[in-house]
Amino acid sequence: MISQKLQDAYNQQINRELFSEYLYLSMAAYFNSAGLKGFENFFLIQVREERLHAMKMYQFVNDRGGRVYLKALEAPETEFKNALETFEKAYGHEKLVSRLINDLMDLAIRENDHAAKSHLNWFVEEQVEEESTMETIVNKLKLIGGEGHGLLMLDNELAQRVFTPPPVK
Ligand code: MG
Repeated sequence: MISQKLQDAYNQQINRELFSEYLYLSMAAYFNSAGLKGFENFFLIQVREERLHAMKMYQFVNDRGGRVYLKALEAPETEFKNALETFEKAYGHEKLVSRLINDLMDLAIRENDHAAKSHLNWFVEEQVEEESTMETIVNKLKLIGGEGHGLLMLDNELAQRVFTPPPVK
């Protein structure tokens, strides 16, 4: 059985993962309006990843005899200046999420909940990948100056991204 404290913290993190989904959907909509369908595709896949993160936590809370309570979602930003600014914000957001996952892990350790620690290890590793993915694209955008032919090449590259769900436990 999950402790009340950990249940509350998981519920808060489910909200943050769903907000991530909402933020990235907003970024996808921005890129659609900017005519950059590859960048839009990148974020539409990110949207699916974030829903998966929320659902992994949903399932864990339920499996441990806890209860999921959904809260209101914060409204995401809707206006972005350009591709570089958007990716810098996405990278900053992933760094924040990493801190939140670390906080959740700290709590699981304090509560001596080994099942939660094991479950959260997946998220700790996932965040390394999430930050790296965003940072790589930020760096590429800086290299090409965020415009022109380079931007279109990157748009083509991101159009190739496909959603690969991790194996279900
Ligand atoms: Mg996430």
